[in-house]
Amino acid sequence: MNFTDLNLIEPIAKAIEEQGYTNPTPIQERSIPEILKGSDFLGCAQTGTGKTAAFAIPILQNLSKNKTKNNHIKALILTPTRELAIQIEENINAYGKYLPLKQLVIFGGVKQGNQEAALRKGIDILVATPGRLLDFIAQGIISLKNIEIFVLDEADRMLDMGFVHDVKRVIKLLPQRRQTLFFSATMPSEIQKLADSILNNPVKVEV
Ligand code: AMP
Repeated sequence: MNFTDLNLIEPIAKAIEEQGYTNPTPIQERSIPEILKGSDFLGCAQTGTGKTAAFAIPILQNLSKNKTKNNHIKALILTPTRELAIQIEENINAYGKYLPLKQLVIFGGVKQGNQEAALRKGIDILVATPGRLLDFIAQGIISLKNIEIFVLDEADRMLDMGFVHDVKRVIKLLPQRRQTLFFSATMPSEIQKLADSILNNPVKVEV
């Protein structure tokens, strides 16, 4: 399969071409059409399989098709570490470079001033680690009430790092009506239970 078979809009197709990608990876082949249709998705995939683009590309396309004028956060990507968060934001920035969408990455361990100023300007897509996200929510700086698409990335690592409680607190604040995408390299029973509790009839892909 070629990226041209995936019905991507021109601004995204052009950005992907500039990345030098010609063929979608196996997880992308399966995820992109399903996520574009609005399905929930469960991907059992390690880093290195192209899983970031597997969710980032269809999220960008879905949001750009429904782009409303408001600057509320419409997509939330939760990931366990600062390094992963930065990488994801960089990928979204690259694939979305020809789209009028704004994205931001937030994480702990640094002063919140710059992140807060960027949030106040209004963004469409937020990439976050759990602790800093909950801090901003507690301060009333971030609201999740307009989230349309939620991604839980590296769910098993969230568990290993002791973040599951924080993740569950975030999930409780999300609108019931939303699209949920869940990625984990492994599926221990606690993670399977979490997936079952937040996904609605998901398409499942293991790579
Ligand atoms: P990830 O699994 O998301 O960490 O991606 C692993 C690496 O593969 C990243 O450096 C991506 O830029 C790259 N990549 C993702 N999708 C493709 C693709 N379809 N073709 C070539 N490289 C890709």
